[in-house]
Amino acid sequence: MRVDGGCHCGYLSFEAEADPAQVAICHCTDCQTSTGTAFRVNVPVPGASFKMLSGEPTRYVKTTAQSGNPRVQAFCPQCGTPIYSTSPGDNPASYMLRVGTLRQRDQLAPKHQFWFRSSRSWLADLASIPRTEKGRAR
Ligand SMILES: [Zn+2]
Ligand SMILES: [Zn+2]
Repeated sequence: MRVDGGCHCGYLSFEAEADPAQVAICHCTDCQTSTGTAFRVNVPVPGASFKMLSGEPTRYVKTTAQSGNPRVQAFCPQCGTPIYSTSPGDNPASYMLRVGTLRQRDQLAPKHQFWFRSSRSWLADLASIPRTEKGRAR
């Protein structure tokens, strides 16, 4: 399916062709750190289908702790929203898009969980944590 999205401030926007069956959660410790939260939701898209529509992401390259391979992490230089990871070099075979940046995210529910061994232990009990329909009063 055709997907499109962008960062929080609107500087970056992009489009791609994604297979909803490939949406997955990543519980690796790098995703926990670089998102600042418990896990990341990703969908891989073919490199040829990915197109930046506006803006130029900042690219940060680091060897990942759990796979040992160098990965490019791309994010907005203005607002910090992570938008994808990919392989170093020109014309990569695929991009891992961050599903929370996609307009179609309601249709992109995760179908699998990777690196579950480093998942946060409380995730299994998420449904039992008290809920409020809106945010914390400040
Ligand atoms: Zn931005
Ligand atoms: Zn990860």
